[in-house]
Amino acid sequence: MRAIRVHQFGDPSVLRLEEVPTPEAGAGQVQIRVQAAGVNPVDTYIRNGRYGALPTPPFIPGSDGAGTIAGLGAGVTRWKVGDRVFFHGTTLGGPYGAYAEVAVCDQDTVYRLPAKMGFAEGAALGVPYATAYQALMVKARPKPNEIVLVHGASGGVGTAALQLARWKGLRVIGTAGSPDGLELVKANGAHLAVSHKEALYVDQIREAADHGRGPDIILEMLANVNLDQDLDLVARGGRIVVIGSRGRTEIDPRKIMAKDASIFGVFLWNQSNEELAAIYADLTAGVEQGALVPVIGQEFPLAEASRAHDAVLAPGAYGKIVLVP
Ligand code: NAP
Repeated sequence: MRAIRVHQFGDPSVLRLEEVPTPEAGAGQVQIRVQAAGVNPVDTYIRNGRYGALPTPPFIPGSDGAGTIAGLGAGVTRWKVGDRVFFHGTTLGGPYGAYAEVAVCDQDTVYRLPAKMGFAEGAALGVPYATAYQALMVKARPKPNEIVLVHGASGGVGTAALQLARWKGLRVIGTAGSPDGLELVKANGAHLAVSHKEALYVDQIREAADHGRGPDIILEMLANVNLDQDLDLVARGGRIVVIGSRGRTEIDPRKIMAKDASIFGVFLWNQSNEELAAIYADLTAGVEQGALVPVIGQEFPLAEASRAHDAVLAPGAYGKIVLVP
């Protein structure tokens, strides 16, 4: 089969398209013909070699995607060949990741693709939608009518969070950094879209969120830039969930006290298969009801994985990026 492999950590040029042996499903595993693989920012951190847990090269990157079951290992009863599925490997990277024509997953990390959903859209469920769900529903635990700020709402996780928050009946503010991104934020259900590139955008958010009370929940995609300011902005008793951060930052802990605020972290790969199954069950219901519709901003052929890695880190995010083998 053809797959992208990384032989040494480095810039996007280390993503090489190669012919490699097709992996077979072991006991309790399924073999999946990958029709679309998710490109997530974490794939670039791992490729670079700048991440906590790193696979040993050579490895095939990518942890989520969608496709059809092509083979069954011993003891697999839940699936049959031809089933349409999406998957989210529980490990980050490994010898057989998703950037390939064929992937192998434990049967418990594979989920049925809703009938009306295409493979590219399915590849957005594994990491971005589940992360948005874990942050909003499991960590922040919204109450009816609360105000949510999705800080970084134009990308894969952000668009998922917007749709999810609207589906759950919340009032939603989203930020983006480009005119197209702002249009996308509005189109995905935000009651208000503001640019995180404009000087006074924080005042706009504060004013819109109950005339100065501030958002009850902030889902934060770039905590190293925004966390201290989020503490100024959040409502009393509010919850900030750190989803993304690309460096260190300084905060004033007094602001946490003064606001009776809570700061949570979320890391999708810490969740058990049982916890993930519960998340995907609710997400599947949202897809079937038409409330959750992944936005695919860009599709790249497998051979252009390096371009996809440049794109996922470029400003001006527009939904999800996928690789199509
Ligand atoms: P993405 O599609 O590349 O989106 C990145 C988002 O961050 C865009 O909406 C971008 O907006 C926004 N952004 C840029 N500058 C910002 C600023 N100053 N303030 C607020 N937002 C800003 O990435 P993604 O897949 O949505 O992932 C988002 C982050 O979450 C990444 O850091 C990723 O590593 C992390 N993540 C964490 C987990 C976890 O388990 N903790 C899981 C998945 C992802 P513009 O481009 O419009 O400026």
